[in-house]
Amino acid sequence: MEQIVNYIDGAFTQPLSKSWLDNYNPSTGEVYSKIANSNAQDIAKAYEAAEKAFPSWSNTTIDERSRILLKIASLIETNLVDLAEAEAKDNGKPLSLAMTIDIPRAASNFRFFAQAITQFASEAHESVGLNSMNFTLRHPIGVVGCISPWNLPLYLFTWKIAPAIAAGNTVVAKPSEVTPMTASLLGKIISEAGLPKGVLNIVHGTGSSAGQAIIEHPNIKAISFTGGTKTGEHIARTAAPMFKKLSLELGGKNPNLIFADCDYETMLETTVKSSFANQGQICLCGSRIFVEESMYEQFKKDFIEKVSQLKVGDPFNAETNLGAIVSQPHLEKIQSYIKIAEKEGGKILFGGKRVTVANLEKGYYLQPTVIEVQDNQCRVNQEEIFGPVVTIMPFKTEAEALKMANGVQYGLSATLWTNNLDRTMRLSKQIQSGIVWVNTWLNRDLRTPFGGMKNSGVGREGGFEALRFFTEPKNVCIKYNNQ
Ligand code: NDP
Repeated sequence: MEQIVNYIDGAFTQPLSKSWLDNYNPSTGEVYSKIANSNAQDIAKAYEAAEKAFPSWSNTTIDERSRILLKIASLIETNLVDLAEAEAKDNGKPLSLAMTIDIPRAASNFRFFAQAITQFASEAHESVGLNSMNFTLRHPIGVVGCISPWNLPLYLFTWKIAPAIAAGNTVVAKPSEVTPMTASLLGKIISEAGLPKGVLNIVHGTGSSAGQAIIEHPNIKAISFTGGTKTGEHIARTAAPMFKKLSLELGGKNPNLIFADCDYETMLETTVKSSFANQGQICLCGSRIFVEESMYEQFKKDFIEKVSQLKVGDPFNAETNLGAIVSQPHLEKIQSYIKIAEKEGGKILFGGKRVTVANLEKGYYLQPTVIEVQDNQCRVNQEEIFGPVVTIMPFKTEAEALKMANGVQYGLSATLWTNNLDRTMRLSKQIQSGIVWVNTWLNRDLRTPFGGMKNSGVGREGGFEALRFFTEPKNVCIKYNNQ
């Protein structure tokens, strides 16, 4: 059976732990490869390689770093089909999605930061009257840790790695143990692109062993993490006494506010996507849908009709809209929330059941599920489910809609559907989330700040925000004689 091994110091290496984990194909429910179950010794080895590579990489010219990142981007594009197939197999997502979103975006991440680093500048402040000049140096931090989740495996892995290495850092990175395949393939690509050995070290394994060793490592001074809020809290608690720099991109429970004055057809089509793309396993999915009362019944009918047309099935079938849920435990978690909804008095308007796909009977398939709820305080509206499950409920006034939108611990993103400019401005200012989309969803410009408020995270990624995170500012103040 294929083994997914670590990529350390420019070479594919067996784990020192000599221990292995099963890697499942969620669309068949079968183990199809073994992953290195790395431990603290493996992380120490990766750290040593990264530390050794740092002095040279951090002194490599911006042009040279940029050239290598651009090469990685084009090699990702050259390998589009292989990478997309690997992602679909490992994660269960439709191949069409991996081909059009995940892998192209991984290439864009490298291309974007290859260009951004050439424009990244620091500030100078002249202290008039004090005869002094300040300028800010921005040095790379050193060895940094990047830890990513399973929902958009290569997309989010590279979203961290690209700015980290563009800024001159060296990296110890861990993808989710649930979806290690494309990160492993990236090892081959960076080596072909000529990234010097030790600049990027990819270590596989569980969060509690390999991940924990990264966050506990005393000399890994910055951690960029995307994952669940509970894990983020644990990371913050562990890293704080060591004064590590942290970027935490965490969970969400995003509201989708639909006003009667919106462009109805566009809203309907996009709301199906924002509810169920990637089986609802995108941190930005709009899982709480609030609809203005005057159009609620109409929306309910039309939305259910559209959702009922979605095809759940083999990720490799071009007709498939929803593939498999990423893992058996995650499927069970989602199903448990559907039961909770019923117990709480929620009405399942559509879905809620496991789907059996011919010839893939052991795969983890679930119907897209729409639940009508009565109260925003119910658990299915308060807790992140992270699956193909949305709730809907009506609202009477803008103030009520806003109160419900903000009435959760999370604050990642929000979507507004309205053609009223005044309302757009009022709500955009008052909604508690890091991102507000108006009459669109998942519309991303990589220059914009990305991240969440409240329990959805700390810090921002994207554009220069990411380059600021991965550099340490140092002010130099020079006094001069004006006589
Ligand atoms: P987890 O928090 O379970 O895991 C994320 C990563 O952290 C994985 O690589 C995991 O390893 C690792 N990890 C787990 N425990 C530790 C630890 N003690 N120390 C260090 N690393 C650890 O999240 P999921 O993978 O389940 O991803 C889903 C979550 O991610 C959802 O809450 C979703 O909202 C959030 N997310 C947020 C995004 C954002 O931008 N805000 C974007 C995408 C997802 P392993 O899995 O191998 O055990």
